[in-house]
Amino acid sequence: MLRDQERAFQNFFARRARYPRYRRRGGVERVRFTLDQRRVQVEREATPRWAFVDLPGLGRVKLRRSEGLQGRLRSVTVSRDGAGRYFASLCADQVSEAVWPEPHTEVIGINLGLRDLAVVSDGTAVRTLRTPKALALKLTRLRRYPRRQNRQVAAQMRAQGLDPTKPCPKGVRLGMSRRRARTRTRVARLHGRIGDLRRDALHRVSTALVAEAKILVLEDLNVKGLARGGHRRGFRRAMGDVALGELRRQIRYKAEWAGRQVIEIDRFFPSSKRCFECGTVHATLGCAKRWACPACGVSHDRDENAAKNIRAEGLRQLAAACSVPTGKGPGSDARGVACAAERTRRVTVECAQRRPTQNREPAQRPVRAKSA
Ligand SMILES: [Zn+2]
Repeated sequence: MLRDQERAFQNFFARRARYPRYRRRGGVERVRFTLDQRRVQVEREATPRWAFVDLPGLGRVKLRRSEGLQGRLRSVTVSRDGAGRYFASLCADQVSEAVWPEPHTEVIGINLGLRDLAVVSDGTAVRTLRTPKALALKLTRLRRYPRRQNRQVAAQMRAQGLDPTKPCPKGVRLGMSRRRARTRTRVARLHGRIGDLRRDALHRVSTALVAEAKILVLEDLNVKGLARGGHRRGFRRAMGDVALGELRRQIRYKAEWAGRQVIEIDRFFPSSKRCFECGTVHATLGCAKRWACPACGVSHDRDENAAKNIRAEGLRQLAAACSVPTGKGPGSDARGVACAAERTRRVTVECAQRRPTQNREPAQRPVRAKSA
């Protein structure tokens, strides 16, 4: 813990962070134990599903493993999330590197969206990776709970002789009814479940995309779109946007692990407004799912068209940045692909040299814990 404090102060004096704060009570609470290297504290593969860890003050704790426990285990962090679930994260070094499969595509364009998680174009086909249905279902339920909470808060205010139509005056502590407490844990549990579903979906998608292609073309984050829209829509956007930023982050770091290249194109590139067939940019395009190009008459799916444009723009940037003579005209698809192949070879070599084989950032994924 002292080490954490030291790091916090170092970051503060180096002007990287704010003055260290005390840990908040409530919400996520965690405690870390350094594992003693002189004795065995962790039974890694006690059963196919369970592992055990011997913790000072807690005794033998049973863990449900989410993956194999490799390498030299250094520390274990036990945390409790807002929903009252316990997790143990094991930190290890000397973890062997994951082996990524050979990519079967050169370049893919990825259009990240809210309606669908991602629309992917690999030059020949376009496919859609959908947001899981369970997640959408849970989100509708989440919208219902605040209403119930408001009602319960109003009732509590009336019980304490306050006017529920006015904001609660400062310094007044509202009592917590049993029903309100129950609603609160329900909301927390639901949030926890939503988080799980979303994390799982994002990891699946980002891993699949990175495994698939040598070069991934993404669109930069669109912050502009955030400010617009009504409340409900804004809420959905905000929720989704956090997820999209996270998906982008995962793609970036996984691509680095796998030795792939990520190209991020400018956020002002008109990916959805440009017709992929004739190149005309239609500035007044609404947010319809399908649209027909007024110039050439081709009917487009908004997201698929954008994915194709993103891939084409990535190829154009590659072709502009490299000088492999291919005999094809500049900006042509074949030239881009040839350059892409050349680029990846270089990138892979660079990564192989730069990356340390050991002591990479320790894999820290939660292992569900249950006290025995
Ligand atoms: Zn057109």
